[in-house]
Amino acid sequence: MIKKTRLLFSSLKIEDKKENKIPALASNVAHNYAGEERRKKITKSSTYQYNQKRFGKGARSRPFGAKNQYKIANEKIPPVEKGVIRIIPLGGVEEIGKNMTAIEIGEDIVVIDAGMHFSNELTPGVDYVIPNTTYLEERKEKIRALIITHGHLDHIGGVPLVLSRIGNPPVYSRNLSMLMMKKRQAEFPHLPTIKENVVEKDSVIMCGKIKIRFFSVTHTIPDSMGVIIETEHGWIVNPGDYKIDQVDGIVTKEEEKGYSIFDKAKVLLLMTESTNIENEGFSLPEIKVHQGLENLIKKIPGRIIIAAFSSHITRLAHIVKVAEALGKKIAIDGRSMKTNIEVAVEAGFFAPKKDSIIPLKEADNYPPNKIVVLMTGAQGEEFAALNRAANKSNAKFSLRKGDTIILSASIVPGNELAVVKMRDGLARQGVRVISYRTAGEDFVHATGHGNIEDVKWLHRKTHPKFFIPIHGNHYRLVLHKELALGLGMSEENIIVPDNGSIIEISADGQKIIMRKERAPSGNMLVDGTSISDTQDVVIRDRVMLAQDGMFVIIALIDQKTGKLKKSPDLISRGFVYLKENQELLRQVRIIIKRSVEDAAARTNQVDFDHIKAELGESISKFLYQKTAKRPLVIPVILSV
Ligand SMILES: [Zn+2]
Ligand SMILES: [Zn+2]
Repeated sequence: MIKKTRLLFSSLKIEDKKENKIPALASNVAHNYAGEERRKKITKSSTYQYNQKRFGKGARSRPFGAKNQYKIANEKIPPVEKGVIRIIPLGGVEEIGKNMTAIEIGEDIVVIDAGMHFSNELTPGVDYVIPNTTYLEERKEKIRALIITHGHLDHIGGVPLVLSRIGNPPVYSRNLSMLMMKKRQAEFPHLPTIKENVVEKDSVIMCGKIKIRFFSVTHTIPDSMGVIIETEHGWIVNPGDYKIDQVDGIVTKEEEKGYSIFDKAKVLLLMTESTNIENEGFSLPEIKVHQGLENLIKKIPGRIIIAAFSSHITRLAHIVKVAEALGKKIAIDGRSMKTNIEVAVEAGFFAPKKDSIIPLKEADNYPPNKIVVLMTGAQGEEFAALNRAANKSNAKFSLRKGDTIILSASIVPGNELAVVKMRDGLARQGVRVISYRTAGEDFVHATGHGNIEDVKWLHRKTHPKFFIPIHGNHYRLVLHKELALGLGMSEENIIVPDNGSIIEISADGQKIIMRKERAPSGNMLVDGTSISDTQDVVIRDRVMLAQDGMFVIIALIDQKTGKLKKSPDLISRGFVYLKENQELLRQVRIIIKRSVEDAAARTNQVDFDHIKAELGESISKFLYQKTAKRPLVIPVILSV
């Protein structure tokens, strides 16, 4: 699913825990009529949708208060007992994205990562989703630190909003991650600034009484680090995202040395990612991609356009270096690409030569074989540079015959369709495309996450007593558990969590359990200017509207007689074309008249709620029988 990314958040306000239960549309309708005649009484609107199994009131009568359910559960969560270590994965264990884990010992809570994930077909129209912070909001005074493992959005994307909700605790990360967080924070000028603490891989910090150290890991963004929390029973280890630095299964000396800290360590608990748990062997080393891209940049005769993840700083830096060495100029198209390159230069990860990066508009001043363009949009994102070039809506850059596009990225699950559409657009322009799937070509992409053999290596190296798989959908976590069992761990020492699971290691360090209570874990949806976990009713309406449309009935009733004052107004959107369905409408009007007048006749007083319910139910059923569609039916009753 393509996501429109609204990048300016300055107007965001935090507005949770309240919800306007009157649908916006119904209140608009009401508004139009309210002006017409003051005396008119308007009932609060609700919607109806035909349901074959349980005919009656639709969406709104279903219990939807995920928040409320959890609220109850949450109230029952007892404080953590003395000596017990409590671990709560608050995000990232039912999805790939929005990673966040809280660790609570005694009077201290430490939070690791605060990511986001983009909206998908389940959350139409939503900008993005962040982890549920309710458990932390209610224990703000215990939070000593937010530790960020690395600068990817699934680890830092939630930072500005999460920080503001949990009392703005100090943030610890390495330099590049901090710079990237600050770039993101700048989009929220109304929120407090980050309490920055840049740490090095060998730093040791105290967060309340909890001692924390770090170690560096190999990933697709520099300055990635793992976190070690020292407890009286041993270390809790969370490497963040990692792959093992190796070539053909031979782990590099540097990597062996980095991990040698675990040789003699007692690791109580390992919590680690499950992203590539289905992929065989070791992950492809990035060095092979560097070589592959280098070969391609050397041998391709025309203009080269490379689309990559803008956070893939190591790779981008390498491309710039290779192009420079060949006397080529580099142009950049895409805001996040520009920003991240600036950040990387600022952090000292590479230093492009003066004049080697040129403004995009000057690219035409050079012969085609002297130009490499770095672009965003390898995922077919609607507004990203490459997609715009593909559908000829990029004002700054047009493709021509002879150009070669290198898609230096895998397709993130969910983006397949967008990429197919984009590639069709590219094919129509007669350009050549090389992707990581193109047969016989050099490597143009490698994953940043460990495959099965990387994962096994990490488990053996850290030899934990307990294990919690994180960072992945549920099935991936289960596969990861099976891998750990295969390595000899016993089942009772492994917990597969859900978001909000409360896991505890006993005070003697001998047992790990999952409590029956659960921390609130409903998705926090960032939707326009609101952030809330109570919007699932809004989202469900959006899904229904997309599938079946809506049907609004506006009936004017004479309060004294209980009869219709005039023929009801009918509005259809996304349901059927009214002009071509006059007979259907005629019948609908008859049903409205009958149900209104019947309902009124049965009671002495005209009971609007009753009439509305009758109308909603009979019309939604009728429409289903006639059209096999289940539009949201919104009856609006006005009276004089
Ligand atoms: Zn990640
Ligand atoms: Zn990552």
